[in-house]
Amino acid sequence: MLPLIDTHIHLDAPELSGNGFALVAEAVAQGIGTFIVPGVRTAGWLPLLQQAEQHAEVLLAPGLHPAYADQWSPAAAAELVRMSQHHKVVAIGEIGLDGVCGPALERQETVFRAQLQIALEAGLPVLLHGRKATGRLLEILRELQIGQQAGGSWHGFSGSLPVAQELVRLGFKVGVGPILLRTSARKLPRAVVELPLESLLLETDLPDMAEQPEALLAVARKVAELRGCTLAEVVEVTTTTACELFGIDGMIL
Ligand SMILES: [Zn+2]
Repeated sequence: MLPLIDTHIHLDAPELSGNGFALVAEAVAQGIGTFIVPGVRTAGWLPLLQQAEQHAEVLLAPGLHPAYADQWSPAAAAELVRMSQHHKVVAIGEIGLDGVCGPALERQETVFRAQLQIALEAGLPVLLHGRKATGRLLEILRELQIGQQAGGSWHGFSGSLPVAQELVRLGFKVGVGPILLRTSARKLPRAVVELPLESLLLETDLPDMAEQPEALLAVARKVAELRGCTLAEVVEVTTTTACELFGIDGMIL
């Protein structure tokens, strides 16, 4: 069986007290081959790069989370452009709009658009973060045709089937995480069943949504159970989708 790819995992999260990258070896033994770590704050970008250089399985999606949009500056933009050229960088993320945290949405949108532009210029896909701003996010994606030009994933998706279908139409993948495992989850299971398997990516969003990287296996099993297919099929298709989107070659697997 192919290894799984965790398309959104915060191995550098302060909650992990510097021990996040130590989780990689055990997770690899469990069948998770690649970890895509998104950026959140500017101060995290360089340490992430250093960690990624020491861990063959770790790839990066540096970017500024909308909650930290106030950290955006010409220097940050220049640094992100530089990072976008690094061979370990496979996406720009996580970027988007957050209607709950961070500065005013207008400011967030300016920073989001600037980062989308960097992704387009670098030819990289994006990892999207959207909370309580879905309509506006979709408008921007439509206007700039990001999905068609760069592609990407809407990480931690929890929305309705029509929104998921619109994302797929716009050229995006739907990031499925541990929300799927909640007994209270209603909308996400429906989307997971109705969408083509080729439009799904798997993620843990650790440490917010999971405590161990192995939670990815539980998410994959749940997708298989809901769709009535085998775990092997889910792994094969989602790993292939992630490899294509992020330009991961067989070497790393
Ligand atoms: Zn995240």
